[in-house]
Amino acid sequence: MVIILKENPETSQLENLISWIKAQGVTPHITQGMHQTIMGLVGDTARIDIELLQQMEIVEAVRRVQEPFKNANRKFHPLDTVVKVKDAVIGGGGMAVIAGPCSVESEEQIITVARSVKTSGAKLLRGGAFKPRTSPYAFQGLREEGIRLLLEAKKDTGLPIVTEIMDLSQLDLFADVDVIQVGARNMQNFELLKQLGHTNKPILLKRGLANTYQELLMSAEYIMAFGNENVILCERGIRTFETYTRNTLDISAVPALKILSHLPVIIDPSHAAGMAKFVAPLSLAAVAAGADGLIIEVHNNPACAKCDGMQSLTMPDFDKLMKKINIMKEAQTACNAF
Ligand code: PEP
Ligand code: MN
Repeated sequence: MVIILKENPETSQLENLISWIKAQGVTPHITQGMHQTIMGLVGDTARIDIELLQQMEIVEAVRRVQEPFKNANRKFHPLDTVVKVKDAVIGGGGMAVIAGPCSVESEEQIITVARSVKTSGAKLLRGGAFKPRTSPYAFQGLREEGIRLLLEAKKDTGLPIVTEIMDLSQLDLFADVDVIQVGARNMQNFELLKQLGHTNKPILLKRGLANTYQELLMSAEYIMAFGNENVILCERGIRTFETYTRNTLDISAVPALKILSHLPVIIDPSHAAGMAKFVAPLSLAAVAAGADGLIIEVHNNPACAKCDGMQSLTMPDFDKLMKKINIMKEAQTACNAF
């Protein structure tokens, strides 16, 4: 349920309304816009008397929200959520690029890539320490050592780090990680999502291979319902009948998720395509569609990468792409002004 308040509500009336709502066992979430104050109610709103609410002096209108996601719903929070990670800003019309190797392989590798992507303009460093691999015989990541090396790269470059958690038992190791990634395969690991909801770290939540927008938003809701509102949504390609590309990038996810939700939306063109030559065109399409950021795999020697070398950009190619992204971002901002 959403309550739209009249302009400049009186403080005492607002406080009365808040206590009345809380007494109904429901939590109010207030968004103060330039002209309008909106109150989203989360909880069991079935027994709230809408007519009584409508008659209150400070209430302009009351609407029931049909969607099962509340905290993540744009109706509850009309303004864009902006997630701040040190100097990086994700959401609200900017363009934050996260770059780095699929997996951390050695100190030399992660530091070389981190320095290079930083010079090219990336705002955050990615690198997998715990890797979800289809085959148990494939490289599983350096695990604890991988996190330690990412922290070294962070110390060296100042770039905040993004890395994937695969299981709740790993959470303590993520104390100094800046953004915790929940991979496509864990999007509906509800116990994990609940625990991440108790942390205060930004969560990069990837869409599952075969999940709908609503299911993605319900997973975001799991995190937010437990108090953590810093969720970044990521479209990384879904399964379709097409086999030429690794997945199919669903570019509609950008405008659709932005209509449905106030959360930032970023695109992963690397896992979507599975081939380095597709990363530039898909990145530019994502920027044009209004994505708030990109997460791109970059390796110092893709041919020898332990994971996802085929889809990894070389450092010089990433540098070229960043220049194109900046040009496309300017064009997109100009188009938005129409
Ligand atoms: C990754 O980012 O390295 C990864 C495994 O991504 P996804 O969960 O999208 O497959
Ligand atoms: Mn990868």
